[in-house]
Amino acid sequence: MPPTPSAARRAPRIAVIGGGIGGLTLALALRRHGLRAVIYEQAAELAEIGAAVALSANATRELERLGLGAALAAVSTEPTELIFRDGRSGARVAAFPVRDGGAYRERFAAPYYGVHRADLQKVLGGALAGEGLHLGHRLAALDQRGDAMALTFENGAEVEADLVIGGDGVRSVVRRWITGGDKVRYSGTSAFRGVVPMGLLPSLPDPQAIQFWMGPEAHLLHYAIGGEADSVNFFAVVEGPETWTSDRWLAGIARAEHRAGFAGWHPAVIEMLDALPQSQRWGLFVTDPLRRWHRGRAVLMGDSAHAMLPHHGQGANTTIEDAVTLAELLAELPAAGGACDLDRMMRRYQGLRQRRTRTIQRSAWATNRLLHLPDTAGPEALARRDARMARFPEDFGWIHAFDARATALEAAAGGSRAA
Ligand SMILES: Cc1cc2nc3c(=O)[nH]c(=O)nc-3n(C[C@H](O)[C@H](O)[C@H](O)COP(=O)(O)OP(=O)(O)OC[C@H]3O[C@@H](n4cnc5c(N)ncnc54)[C@H](O)[C@@H]3O)c2cc1C
Repeated sequence: MPPTPSAARRAPRIAVIGGGIGGLTLALALRRHGLRAVIYEQAAELAEIGAAVALSANATRELERLGLGAALAAVSTEPTELIFRDGRSGARVAAFPVRDGGAYRERFAAPYYGVHRADLQKVLGGALAGEGLHLGHRLAALDQRGDAMALTFENGAEVEADLVIGGDGVRSVVRRWITGGDKVRYSGTSAFRGVVPMGLLPSLPDPQAIQFWMGPEAHLLHYAIGGEADSVNFFAVVEGPETWTSDRWLAGIARAEHRAGFAGWHPAVIEMLDALPQSQRWGLFVTDPLRRWHRGRAVLMGDSAHAMLPHHGQGANTTIEDAVTLAELLAELPAAGGACDLDRMMRRYQGLRQRRTRTIQRSAWATNRLLHLPDTAGPEALARRDARMARFPEDFGWIHAFDARATALEAAAGGSRAA
């Protein structure tokens, strides 16, 4: 019988916890390099219902490189413009072309898309075609045994891996093992959301644009989604409640409670809020900045590492960046990649990802304050906010211009030169 190859001689056994946007993208990106990941997902099937996601160029350029461009384009909508409006009068505060005149693609060399989460999941899951995907596996515990990690699942399965990647979302089990505590925090803001057929929104101006309606202590964001662009995904955020007592995302609300923060707002906003029965509010949770993203042979990606307020629409986009970065660094490991190489790879990964995601997290908090500026802030503060919104592309273009793959390759090349 031939000897079992040691960890120092063969490609690392990679276990990804979580088959969300990050886990699926990572497996696809690794496959492109001939590396195989095994995904363990708690759900019995990959299903994401009723919500949408906005994908910006920093993610769409990566999904296109993974060969998903045509499939994604078929289920997505490109907004005509990005518009900031006064939530009550509906006046345009600032507007920038996106699809119009090809402005966004010209600047960032990749599209901006609104897409149903279920469709995105189907595009990613369809490309993976079930390869290495283990559904119904909820990670219960992990531990290090020598150079390997031992994983125990609630269904009784036990496996070993050379590297564990925690793509298990904001309430990550892997993060708890790495940091020794729970770093998730309620943001003090909550949201109502829905997907509304365009026909129910007769008062909506510029229905094909992505629009922020701003007002005191609240804002509403929406964009068209789907290959036909016939629905609007909206996301209405309010300050409060002060505390969140449930350990779940969702909390039941009284009838019409969702309208309380939007009294006197533009009819388009009210139509959206009222188009669907609303019985729940979403608590918005964030991950506190982590000192370290890895321990032993386990490392974090996506929401487990940097869940953020969604006001730059960057949670999924930065998760896709993480996945691509990890895949490029893993692909650069020497063929005989051993424990030391994995350690170096994880340090390099954290070095590449921590500052960027922390900056976006912080910026999302600042944007929350701008979007929710109360009238009591006074006319000068409101004018400053409007001026800030008018500089949106200059101030935040760096988020969309980022090229995760090129950055990772550059770092890997620098590292090999240094080695
Ligand atoms: C209301 C809302 C709107 C948003 N809008 C946008 C947007 O427009 N643009 C954007 O970029 N981002 C947006 N985001 C953020 C985005 O959804 C997340 O950042 C992104 O999904 C993170 O991907 P992930 O793979 O890290 O985690 P997830 O997509 O949450 O996936 C985690 C996966 O891990 C699985 N899992 C969890 N625990 C275990 C376990 N113990 N064992 C096995 N599996 C486990 C889960 O079932 C899940 O499938 C929004 C978020 C919210 C809440």
